[in-house]
Amino acid sequence: MKKKVAFYTLGCKLNFSETSTIARNFTNEGFDRVDFSEQADIYVINTCSVTENADKRFKTIVKQAQKVNTDAFIVAVGCYAQLKPQELADVNGVDLVLGATEKFKITDYLNDLSKNDLGQVHSCEIEEADFYVGSYSIGDRTRAFLKVQDGCDYKCTYCTIPLARGISRSDTMENVLKNAKEISKQNIKEIVLTGVNIGDYGKGEFGNKKHEHTFLDLVTELDKIEGIERLRISSIEPNLLKNETIDLVSKSRAFVPHFHVPLQSGSNEILKKMKRRYMRELYIDRVSKIRDVMPHACIGVDVIVGFPGETDEHFLETYNFLSTLDISYLHVFTYSERDNTEAAEMSGVVPNNIRSKRSKMLRGLSVKKRRAFYESQVGTTRTVLFESENKEGYIHGFTENYVKVKTPWNPKLVNTLHQVDLTEIDTDGLVRFEFVNVFSN
Ligand code: SF4
Repeated sequence: MKKKVAFYTLGCKLNFSETSTIARNFTNEGFDRVDFSEQADIYVINTCSVTENADKRFKTIVKQAQKVNTDAFIVAVGCYAQLKPQELADVNGVDLVLGATEKFKITDYLNDLSKNDLGQVHSCEIEEADFYVGSYSIGDRTRAFLKVQDGCDYKCTYCTIPLARGISRSDTMENVLKNAKEISKQNIKEIVLTGVNIGDYGKGEFGNKKHEHTFLDLVTELDKIEGIERLRISSIEPNLLKNETIDLVSKSRAFVPHFHVPLQSGSNEILKKMKRRYMRELYIDRVSKIRDVMPHACIGVDVIVGFPGETDEHFLETYNFLSTLDISYLHVFTYSERDNTEAAEMSGVVPNNIRSKRSKMLRGLSVKKRRAFYESQVGTTRTVLFESENKEGYIHGFTENYVKVKTPWNPKLVNTLHQVDLTEIDTDGLVRFEFVNVFSN
């Protein structure tokens, strides 16, 4: 009887691309992949540790698996598993915890699937995770997440990712292009480039600290691949988003006009304390450069509230900075202390009620920004990639510049690209449209 395996992924696009690759390894070794809600012999949970909740969520997901099959063998991998292996191994029901160097070799540890009283840990010092493993997600969603880079050499004072994923290193250009071609052959219309600090692409491509290629080289080569309809850059540091890259995207065949650029704070004083590698003036410059060459581009912004030492004045600086900036939406993160980070030792701790009040204010601002951006797109002609789910009788989709649209459910639209005229914003904030070319139902 083929053994059944199921996967659950927490966190970022990079984690999803890695779970998908791990799952393919299992299938290649004769395991049957089933949905996480189904009975399986092995449950693999790919963990995240960026936010507090990710920890609690892990325990809930373990219980979920145990409910379906109390005898199942439960494996934990991912960032949380690398940072706090024993903490996960102590969770009731967990049998195996693998660190960053072992997560792609799970099947090597599955000779004996009998439940362990205590979870076994095969972890490592993060310095040992200095090699690169390519990954891409396929089949789970409309778009494919293509991993091009891993790890980070930056030292942002609030961040644990370098401790969980190691030094900055990149896939070879050759392998990225091979993976992209493989994906495009499987009727996937959109590829999202993912990594930890993808603007640093090229570093460690051949196992050394040098940059053999740059991110600009990468996007230039990817744009030449026939058969890839759309390419989207997931997130890129402002100081690594070069004018040449913005220009390339503006003239590109496949790269879409959507930039997600972490800001984190609109106060230079706080940016210094975060050890970010830019001041807000550079951020303004990046936004205006994008607007110059792509006025219709979508610009998303990551921002952290409640960082140690953030006074009301600093917060208002951030709020006013974002209010005046021509951006399209915000991803708001409430600061949470992470062990072994510099910021966790800093004075000026912001009380939780203040953190959530500030977070609420910025989420309100994000709603306004997204609305204004959508209104600016009504009356324009865009291309929509339709998703695959029937959401209460509607099918959703995204334009190239990340406007979310909806229309009555029609299975023929699934995973197809269509030109549309954006007509109005519906009460739920999604955009209605007319098909440019009559679409025969
Ligand atoms: S750039 Fe900073 S925030 Fe991003 S992963 Fe690296 S250390 Fe963390």
